[in-house]
Amino acid sequence: CKEILDSRRKEKSAKPKPQCEALVAHSGPPEIVEGIQGCIGNTHLFRIKSLSDETGCEILAKAEFLNGAGQSSKDRVALSMIELAEEEGILTPYSGDTIYEGTSGSTGISLASLARAKGYLAHICLPSDQAIEKSNLLLKLGAIVDRVPPAPIVEKENFINRARALAAAHTASAPVATEDGEVEPSERMARGRGFFADQFENEANWRAHYGGSGPEIYAQCNGKIDAFVAGAGTGGTISGVARYLKPLLPDLTVVLADPQGSGLYNRVRYGVMFDVKEREGTRRRRQVDTIVEGIGVNRVTANFEAGKELIDDAVRVTDAQALAMARWLVEKDGIFAGSSSAVNCFAAVKTAQKLGPGHRIVTMLSDSGSRHLSRFWAKAGDVGGAVDTKLSDVLNA
Ligand code: PMP
Repeated sequence: CKEILDSRRKEKSAKPKPQCEALVAHSGPPEIVEGIQGCIGNTHLFRIKSLSDETGCEILAKAEFLNGAGQSSKDRVALSMIELAEEEGILTPYSGDTIYEGTSGSTGISLASLARAKGYLAHICLPSDQAIEKSNLLLKLGAIVDRVPPAPIVEKENFINRARALAAAHTASAPVATEDGEVEPSERMARGRGFFADQFENEANWRAHYGGSGPEIYAQCNGKIDAFVAGAGTGGTISGVARYLKPLLPDLTVVLADPQGSGLYNRVRYGVMFDVKEREGTRRRRQVDTIVEGIGVNRVTANFEAGKELIDDAVRVTDAQALAMARWLVEKDGIFAGSSSAVNCFAAVKTAQKLGPGHRIVTMLSDSGSRHLSRFWAKAGDVGGAVDTKLSDVLNA
């Protein structure tokens, strides 16, 4: 026992001092900030020990579930879209305006929280197959919620199209916006305008990561990063971070982590979304067929377009692999990851294997597993006590 303790002590004292001055300078408690919106950004970047030990690379994860409003990376985007709309005079705080959005959940939750903080109403349309805790949380946050049956984007009743149409109808039927200051909550719906946030096409999305996640990652890594790995839902994260990092680090490898059923993997690897069979079949018109929520899409959105030329490679991750990785992260590191975070970590390991030992790979933990209890984690099951999974089992799942 003493021998083990001594060797651990030795190991500890041999560890290099932190390199990043920015981190050392900010290691004190954060300052007082204004409102819940002040608790967005500046998230931790931490080393995932198990994956780093196994691969010989340093695999770092940005703890985006620490964002304070909606507990996901979408807080950055929601705040950025609202602030831009305010700047452009489309939204006025406490005027009774309503923010509409079509979302798989996370963006809606962030918008709902920030709407309350800034005196707006939120009306969220989300596909009815998403985890029920997301719509429950939206209702608790005072949003109006439409659960829309899953339908492809080409259909009128798709959740995004529904949000867009509702916003337009609201604005068309609203009396001219307030000029007489604040409006009572009971009157807001009748007085304000409708704003369609449009996270897929609204470029305030990738700019939030260009101005936030990107510079944070660069500072936290002291400019030493070999690869950045992320999935794409709207594409805002991967485009924004890549656009910030690539000019500073021309050798950086940017890797898309793509769940099964998504067309983006083919788009990155082969320049086309669908192979001939898929184009002729029904896949093109179907929703992405995966248990993973938040990433994977079958079209090139404006936010993906903004960074797509900067993506060097893609890794396709099956549902079974995502579930196995999620269990691994709990078993080995106590990390309770959301489904897209598990996909990201899987792709980070694949990237580490491709680059070889000694590289530093950064990925995103976009939200936590608590958003995925009834669907993804119900399927993943309980991790159990004395388990000793091998990484090869996860990779071959
Ligand atoms: N993870 C989760 C849980 C998300 O909700 C989203 C956004 N839909 C993403 C990852 C992907 O981020 P982006 O939209 O920036 O591509």
